[in-house]
Amino acid sequence: MTSGQFRGFSVGSGEGGCRVDYVMPEPLRGKVEAILLCRGELLDGTGGAPSLIAGRMGHLLGGRSLVAPWQVHGTAVVQGRAMWALPQRVKADGVHLDRAFDRNCEVLASLRFADCAPILIASAIPRPWAVILHSGFRGTLRDIFGESWRGLVNFYRGRGLGLDPAETYAWIGPAIGPCCFTRALTEEAALRAEEEWGPDHSRREGGLVHLDLIGVIAERMRASGIPSRNIMTLPLCTSCNRDMFYSYRSGDSEDRMTLVAGLKSMPLWEAAR
Ligand SMILES: [Zn+2]
Repeated sequence: MTSGQFRGFSVGSGEGGCRVDYVMPEPLRGKVEAILLCRGELLDGTGGAPSLIAGRMGHLLGGRSLVAPWQVHGTAVVQGRAMWALPQRVKADGVHLDRAFDRNCEVLASLRFADCAPILIASAIPRPWAVILHSGFRGTLRDIFGESWRGLVNFYRGRGLGLDPAETYAWIGPAIGPCCFTRALTEEAALRAEEEWGPDHSRREGGLVHLDLIGVIAERMRASGIPSRNIMTLPLCTSCNRDMFYSYRSGDSEDRMTLVAGLKSMPLWEAAR
């Protein structure tokens, strides 16, 4: 198993299986926490069903409720409110955590993945907030990051507050890499991706185009003003590293990795490590 430290990520295994811990920069320490639960006994056989996953996570949730949207490869982001927590399932591919929705930080955000790119965006400016997104082929073509970013800017501006891109941090991955992620050139959407993502993030080989999800998302983040130094990418392909990750394209048709994020720290998770 690949384990170790990457910029912004700590990859290893703990109780329940493989996991990726998001390493917070100093301004976010104790304010935002996130973890990606990967292949292992905690998630094996759950079939990506949030209620089953939440049940198995049990004490790790520390009594907090879990917002777990019904993912539809769209661009909608749901507000992290207790009213949208399980057993509710709102159709969305993102969750926004802010104390405007959840005064006491009692709600955790979650999304599920097997090849699609998990995204975490967070800042302590103007106050601690975090957004998680599910950005696969279709979500990236629809630019879920860009849509969400514009929504965030408007959300805080509308309250007389401002986002500061220079003080915003972003994490992307793990996702299926350009080594393994191919689409047929007979597919209209593949041609569109090739044209829009450009030669830096697409490459033709035979009748296929290899696509770089993480690369194109990172480029869009930089274009939004988030500095390169604040953008963390995990360069492990989910399909090449199936001992750690679930990969839909490599045969994990049901099970999913689970990204969970919350505001404030999660001491119970520390204890479970
Ligand atoms: Zn690969």
